[in-house]
Amino acid sequence: MKHLLLVVSTLFVLSCPVANADEWGAVELVRQTIRPGEKLKYSAIEERSFEGSYLNIPVFVARGLTAGPTLCVTAGIHGDEMNGVESARRAFLQADPATMAGMLVVLPTLNADGFRNGDRYLPDRRDLNRFFPGSERGSVASIMANAIFEQVIKRCDALVDLHTASFHRTNLPQIRVDESNAAALALARNFGAGIIIGGAGPEGSLRREAMNAGVLAIIYEAGEPLRFEEGPIVQGVTGIANVMQYLGMVQGTHELVPESRIFTKSSWVRVPKRQGGFFFPTVAPGDSVNKGDVLGEVVDPLTDERHTITATLSGEVIGMSVPQITLSGYGLVHIGIPGKAPE
Ligand SMILES: [Zn+2]
Repeated sequence: MKHLLLVVSTLFVLSCPVANADEWGAVELVRQTIRPGEKLKYSAIEERSFEGSYLNIPVFVARGLTAGPTLCVTAGIHGDEMNGVESARRAFLQADPATMAGMLVVLPTLNADGFRNGDRYLPDRRDLNRFFPGSERGSVASIMANAIFEQVIKRCDALVDLHTASFHRTNLPQIRVDESNAAALALARNFGAGIIIGGAGPEGSLRREAMNAGVLAIIYEAGEPLRFEEGPIVQGVTGIANVMQYLGMVQGTHELVPESRIFTKSSWVRVPKRQGGFFFPTVAPGDSVNKGDVLGEVVDPLTDERHTITATLSGEVIGMSVPQITLSGYGLVHIGIPGKAPE
C-alpha cells in the first residue's frame, strides 16, 4: 500500500512540479547535503585509518527537482561480481536530476576493497551479504552492514541489488524476489528481465533484510564473476531505467513489458559419485531441457572415460558452471521449474 501511495503522489507532483519544489528541498545523506537538481559522487567516510579503507565506499546521489520515491541501487557486495558495478555506473551516468522526480542513490561497490582485488569476500573471508542489518559492534562485516543499512537502505523506498553468479558459474539474466509480496513482485516484473526466480533469499542478505525493514527489494543476477559482459550489463541498465519509469521518477520512453516467466522451484544437476573430471557443457543459459536430455559430459583425464550428464528434470537452464575441473556432487546445471505467481 505504501508503494502504491508513492506512485500516486509522484504522478501528482509531476503534474505540478513548481508548487512542490520548495517542500522537497535538500536532504542529508551520508555526511553530504544534496539539493534538488544536484548530482554528486563522493566517499562515504573521510576517516584516514587502516580499517577506514573497508568503510570508504563510493556514494553516487542524484536528487530530482521534484518530489518522488528514493530508489537505491547497490552492487559489488560480492567484490568479484563486476557486471553490476558497471550497470550501476552507467545507470547513474544516465540519470538527469533536472528532469527526474525523487532521488537515485547508487552504492556501486559495497565491498570496495574486494572489488579492487577481485575478491568476493571481505579480507577476513566473511561474506558481507550475510551480515545485514548489521550491528555497531562485532566484525568489520557487521559494522559495514550496519553503516550501509542505517544510513542508506532504511531511507530507500525500493532497492535493486545487482549480482552475478559466484565462482566459475554463470546466470541467465534474472530477477530474484519474494513473490509472496505483491508490490515487490510488481517491481520485479517491471524491471523487465523476463525471468523471475521466487524466494525470500538467505537470512542476513541485504535483499531479505531490506524487505523485513519495509523496503521493496529485488536482486538482478546476470552473467559470471570477474569480467565485464556487455549483454548482462546493458540489460541491467535498461532494467534500472524501467524501474525508475515504473516508480514515476522519469517519463516513459519505452514500453514496459511486465510479463515474466516465473520459476518457483529450481534444482541443480550434479556430478555423479566418483565421476569427477573436466566438465564440458553442451547447453547454454536459457535453453529448455527435458528430463533425460544431454547437458554435457565430464571427462576423466586419467581413464579417458566420458560421463554423460543428463537432465534429472524438465525446465529451463537458469544458471550453470562454465567448463572447469569438477568433483563428485558439484553443481553443474541449474534448472528452473516454471510455476505460477500468486494472484
Ligand atoms: Zn553476489
